[in-house]
Amino acid sequence: MFYASDLMAKHGIKALFSDREGGCSVSPFDSLNLGSDLGDSEENVIKNLNHLCVSAGLNLPHQSKQVHGIQVCRCQGSGKLHQDADILITTQRHTTIAVRTADCLPILLVDKKTQVAAAVHAGWRGSVQRVVQVAVSEMCGLGANEENILASLGPCIAACCFEISADVGHQLSQSCGKNVVSKRRERLFADLGKTNMLQLLACGLQPNNIELSLACTACQVSPSYFSYRRDHGETGRQLSMISLP
Ligand SMILES: [Zn+2]
Repeated sequence: MFYASDLMAKHGIKALFSDREGGCSVSPFDSLNLGSDLGDSEENVIKNLNHLCVSAGLNLPHQSKQVHGIQVCRCQGSGKLHQDADILITTQRHTTIAVRTADCLPILLVDKKTQVAAAVHAGWRGSVQRVVQVAVSEMCGLGANEENILASLGPCIAACCFEISADVGHQLSQSCGKNVVSKRRERLFADLGKTNMLQLLACGLQPNNIELSLACTACQVSPSYFSYRRDHGETGRQLSMISLP
């Protein structure tokens, strides 16, 4: 159903990444689909979300309409759906913030000392726009310090499966450096985890404070994940959530 970040747990922070198992939705959303308006019944999505939150011991999360941009949404009070934003931030205890993914990279950030947390949705478009660096700078504007920020990068489509066009490769290399794109048999592959990790290090985060999932949403079997690329768009969504203690 989900795994909790070891790095965050060590610091007493609840941060978790769901997989596709243990829910009630049927194919092609089987079974723990947490995305609305994809064709799954809203009743199932709500049931899955409640089940996940109860199991994780978290309040219902704030979510937003994700648009592959760098807009920030400040969240407080009980969870609800917000307008366009790919960065959710809270400074309030027990307020859960979340992003949905099915191949894009979910990133959870926290500065425990100053009590600021963020959830970031980073696909290749967001990565080109350095969405995670925007999130860190927004957190620092609220009192956080780069040296104290913990970052957990969750499961996404990994470099084994994320084939990209020459144009996307060019945009990523231009923005994030040449070594985030690799070439195998004349085909190009992007590494979203590495891209965003390099961006976090460039912001001044400590290497020991960054954790990277090794799972690939497209090819990992157990637990399995929803993958937009593998399932040709007909699939559900994972949810990644964080809450300040
Ligand atoms: Zn893979």
